[in-house]
Amino acid sequence: MRVAFFGGTFDPPHRGHVAIAQAAADAFELDRVLFAPAGRQPLKDGHATLDFGDRLALSTMACASDERFAASALDAPREDGQPNYTVDVLTELRRQMPDATIFNLVGADSFNDLGRWREPAELLRLAEWIVVSRPGHVLDEPEGYPLTAGQRARVHLLDAVHLDISATELRARLAAGELCDDLLTAPVAGFIRAHGFYRHEL
Ligand code: ATP
Ligand code: MG
Repeated sequence: MRVAFFGGTFDPPHRGHVAIAQAAADAFELDRVLFAPAGRQPLKDGHATLDFGDRLALSTMACASDERFAASALDAPREDGQPNYTVDVLTELRRQMPDATIFNLVGADSFNDLGRWREPAELLRLAEWIVVSRPGHVLDEPEGYPLTAGQRARVHLLDAVHLDISATELRARLAAGELCDDLLTAPVAGFIRAHGFYRHEL
């Protein structure tokens, strides 16, 4: 079993997320990509616009586009209110799936930031990494965190997707009343509209 953990805020999940998950699943023959919204992202200021339950529901809808995809509550808010760290969730995933080959799927902007993540060396030990291109970001080793040869061998750079979509821009456009159907999958767009999410949220 080859499984990718795909963490993020997913506020909301958009076509960029689906595209990189599909590219990664194709290139690395993944059986599963787990879209796992983070309860509380330590590197982001403030809170997500939508609560965890809504982001998980939207992630479930985004996963409808590919049978290899599944939403996961593995990175749900912690009971102690502390931020969620990927090192903890990958440790838990390894415990739950001891025989699986586990990948951590990220975009180039997230990987560039690796030096700011908690326990980068442990993160590279726990999973192989798939890093996908993102417009405006270099697809390369993290700045300020030089990798050893052994770590480099566990990082796979995938220059396959060039979709300039971000949830930040989406939220602004949805708040301004735009439909954004070109940036969202149909079930996600429908759910956002039905619930009035992001309206007047600027
Ligand atoms: P925000 O603007 O709120 O940060 P986002 O669009 O960056 O939202 P996240 O939930 O932060 O979405 O991203 C989750 C993961 O998906 C991250 O690893 C990020 O790098 C990656 N990602 C998001 N959008 C893209 C994209 N268009 N191309 C490549 N990677 C992406
Ligand atoms: Mg982001």
